Amino acid sequence: MATDNSTRLAGQFALVTGASSGIGAAVAKALAAQGAGVVVNYIGNPEAAQAVVKDITDAGGQALALQADVSKEDQVQAMFQQAIQRFGTLHIVVANAGIQVDSSFLDMTLAQWQKVIDVNLTGQFLCLREGAREFVRRGPQPDISKALGKLLCMSSVHEVIPWAGHVNYATSKGGILQLMKSTAQELAPHKIRVNSIGPGAIKTPINHDAWATPEAEAKLLTLIPYNRVGVPEDIGNLAAWLCSDEADYITGQTIFMDGGMTLYPGFATNG
Ligand code: NAD
Repeated sequence: MATDNSTRLAGQFALVTGASSGIGAAVAKALAAQGAGVVVNYIGNPEAAQAVVKDITDAGGQALALQADVSKEDQVQAMFQQAIQRFGTLHIVVANAGIQVDSSFLDMTLAQWQKVIDVNLTGQFLCLREGAREFVRRGPQPDISKALGKLLCMSSVHEVIPWAGHVNYATSKGGILQLMKSTAQELAPHKIRVNSIGPGAIKTPINHDAWATPEAEAKLLTLIPYNRVGVPEDIGNLAAWLCSDEADYITGQTIFMDGGMTLYPGFATNG
């Protein structure tokens, strides 16, 4: 029997970074489908962000597109101010925006290292901090959600799986592990829940070359015991559930959603 989750997040407002494409767009739509009003953050493609807003409003939901570079403190603070002006408050922040700037370690420039750390790690810090400040300012609304607020980091299987040729990216995701856990420890007494999703391979623009041809997809599938590449909606559904009261006792955890990529598939046939 199908379950109707359309009111699971009713009365709540969410901000999702990097929501004009891929996983962020799917998370924004899933949160909206479950009743939340959603801020669709984007950096450089207003048409794509407006298309996500339109999908949400056409389906009867509430959404607003706001531009901000998550690595810039003044832009993040201005975005949160605008979101709060429009919606009154926020209950959910999904720090999803992320980039890859790939290079061999020997050739990696400081600029390549710094850019990825700025967006993937500092950007999550800034958004988590602004979210937490707003939850504390607003105070409890037990009729709307058991928690004061929910912070969700988009991490990666590369939080735990080393990745040669992508040292800046893997380091940023390893950093998110302690950002999430330490923040969760510090904010639990405020009843703020902080968790991460660790996606495996999900079909989005960030890894287009890894699944765009049948040959590339077949090679990728050797890393995925469940034998399918994920889709953004997989992550959207998990994000909506993790931010709901059904997950109220979960904090400080990374939930890997990876078709078994973290099961060391190379050892499946005795190593
Ligand atoms: P994507 O490229 O579609 O999404 C990344 C989004 O972040 C884009 O919309 C981009 O415009 C936005 N962005 C980039 N820099 C920004 C900035 N400075 N400020 C605001 N927004 C910015 O790719 P995706 O796969 O949807 O990635 C989303 C998240 O999921 C990333 O954190 C990524 O590391 C993570 N992830 C993806 C996969 C995968 O297989 N696709 C696996 C593990 C983790």
